[in-house]
Amino acid sequence: MASTFPDLPIFHAIASHDPESTAIIHSVSNRKFSYGELLTDVEKAKIRLYHQLKDALTNGQSIGGQRVAFLVENGYDYVVTLLSIFACDGIAVPLSSSFPASELRYILDNSQALTLLSSDKFKKQAETVLQEGLERRPTLNIVEKLMSGSGRDEVQLVQLPETRGGLMLYTSGTTSRPKGVVLNTSTLTAQALSLYEAWKYTPKDRLLHLLPLHHIHGTVNALLTPLFAGSSIEFLFPFNADAVWDRLAAPFLPSSQKKAENEPITFLTAVPTIYNRLLSSHPRLAPEVQDAAREAVSPNNMRLNISGSAALPTPTKQAWSDLSKGNILLERYGMTEVGMALSCGLAFEDRVDGSVGWPLPGVEVRLVDAENGEVIEPGQESDAAGKEREGEIQLRGQTIFREYWRNPKATEEEFAKADDGGGKWFKTGDVASRRQVEGAGQSEQAWAKGPCYFIKGRKTTDIIKTGGEKVSALEIERELLSLPQVSEAAVVGVANEQWGQKVSAVLVLDPAQAQTGKGGKPWGVMDMRRALKDKLAGYKIPQELKVVDDLPKNAMGKINKKSLVKEVFGPDA
Ligand code: AMP
Repeated sequence: MASTFPDLPIFHAIASHDPESTAIIHSVSNRKFSYGELLTDVEKAKIRLYHQLKDALTNGQSIGGQRVAFLVENGYDYVVTLLSIFACDGIAVPLSSSFPASELRYILDNSQALTLLSSDKFKKQAETVLQEGLERRPTLNIVEKLMSGSGRDEVQLVQLPETRGGLMLYTSGTTSRPKGVVLNTSTLTAQALSLYEAWKYTPKDRLLHLLPLHHIHGTVNALLTPLFAGSSIEFLFPFNADAVWDRLAAPFLPSSQKKAENEPITFLTAVPTIYNRLLSSHPRLAPEVQDAAREAVSPNNMRLNISGSAALPTPTKQAWSDLSKGNILLERYGMTEVGMALSCGLAFEDRVDGSVGWPLPGVEVRLVDAENGEVIEPGQESDAAGKEREGEIQLRGQTIFREYWRNPKATEEEFAKADDGGGKWFKTGDVASRRQVEGAGQSEQAWAKGPCYFIKGRKTTDIIKTGGEKVSALEIERELLSLPQVSEAAVVGVANEQWGQKVSAVLVLDPAQAQTGKGGKPWGVMDMRRALKDKLAGYKIPQELKVVDDLPKNAMGKINKKSLVKEVFGPDA
């Protein structure tokens, strides 16, 4: 007998791939799973999960749209779990084992998860989380058991009157408690198809997956879209720079066992911190690994290397290009609520420095001047004095989420009404400018045309108002990072009576370079100001400098600037 799946494009795609071709690889053990196995295992898991959900439901509620939280390590079992939740028309809520119990309880309560699926590895952690402090206790089920036993003969895709399943990701919660972002299956499909068209994933691609799987970057860009395309996804998580270099280099070593076992990686998508860590660990590798690693990431072998989720510093982009014999990082911009929105193009000339490129296929973008609420129409990118105008990025289209989970107030606040009769615009809270760049936008990629977008930062933390001027923290960070003394930089606005906000820099210095500044003293605020004098207008140059040992970042390499300001400059700052 056939088992039924909702008629979703992701299942059509998976069923249409060569069943013998490799879908998932566990990098460390080199265990491989084909697309055929994946479909069979999802089918088995779906049947068992369906019964578990039915048992957990009372008073005849329907399974469609029920939240299923899961705590499973990155790898094949994660993929099977996610897809089997989609197959049951449930909403998958991926959890991270790195979250403290209180955070996991918050998500379970907020999402009102019906069940928590855990892998054997995280069973203890899951039991501890469920032990106490929950408003409503979900049932606990072990993922490995879902896949045991046999399935039915074939999978039948059936049209449901209404699909209610999808994915719920929690925002990083820098401003308030994390909010559940509901991405239903049609939104996920639109996001994946947009990237598929833009970045041309193929069944020949092998993607090295280094990212957490409770974020949009790891789930949509690095998992769902390659599954749509029939690419192979190799999991190597948690990130470790030496392990990544070893893996990348393996197929290019003069001769070794590893050489035969490992296929070249063609696709890498990561955050700037990961590229920085790879760059700093490369010189420490054995000489033959260094050479093989350079060959691995060269344009001959690495078809696409993408950076995003935080601003890519120009020195990082340059250093990667030098190391990789000319490969150029493609930068893109996105967020949990919208998937990916802007991206540079595949042609090297379309990977414009400091820019995140153009609106991706299916994404409508407008910039809204924060001062006067005016839409910056095409052609009005500069004011009367010739100064570039900046505006909030607002987005609409099939790729944009529809609501925060059970939070109509936040949903209402984050969308702006349209005056053209079209759908509402999502207010991203990010500020950008737009300009034509000579030589860019000439490729055959139809969406990569017109003026390029340049991100200035988040409205609330990165746009600093000082003495009546508006300053982009990201622009100053770019310049700071190009100084040899600076390893890491965060520019923040610190409340100040005279200036409104004072531009201030929090830096990690390179100990070898920063030992001496002018007059033999350690490199300090005056040295920094002197070094920036010819690069930035006076009011943009930080007035204060604090040196720290470390800039704390989350799993996606992002700095929480609100808490950084408080920690470094005190609670009133
Ligand atoms: P998240 O929802 O956690 O993925 O965070 C999304 C936020 O990351 C955006 O709202 C931006 O502030 C930031 N972001 C993402 N990509 C970029 C980029 N390429 N450059 C600068 N900021 C970025």
